[in-house]
Amino acid sequence: MTEDCIFCRIAAGEIPARIVYEDDSILAFHDVQPQAPIHVLIIPRRHIPTLLDATAADRDLMGSLQLRAVGLARELGLDKDGFRLVTNCLAGAGQSVFHIHLHLLGGRTLGWPPG
Ligand code: 5GP
Ligand code: ZN
Repeated sequence: MTEDCIFCRIAAGEIPARIVYEDDSILAFHDVQPQAPIHVLIIPRRHIPTLLDATAADRDLMGSLQLRAVGLARELGLDKDGFRLVTNCLAGAGQSVFHIHLHLLGGRTLGWPPG
């Protein structure tokens, strides 16, 4: 738990969130400022600031995050029209919360390339 990290505080139950999934290592909740009709964030409970901080020891966790995101996409009905999983890494790519997360986006047509 990193005290000044908003996602650690959500994982600790200190800040409310619309949680859609949780287990011992992973939490998923709706983004407070959705960029699509469905916009869910999937995070590890453990504080890892960016993708650049993930190591081989995090292999199972990183795989679990991605597979969980796909499971949620199915549950939320995105397996017909499609969805996007995004992780922004560092501020230049748009990262604003420095606790690794996957964005699950869907429910509308998504343009490419992203901005
Ligand atoms: P990033 O910009 O780091 O890729 O994504 C961070 C995401 O976290 C943004 O989409 C932002 O709207 C979301 N976010 C920031 N603070 C909160 C919060 O307190 N609660 C929730 N549910 N989402 C948040
Ligand atoms: Zn954190």
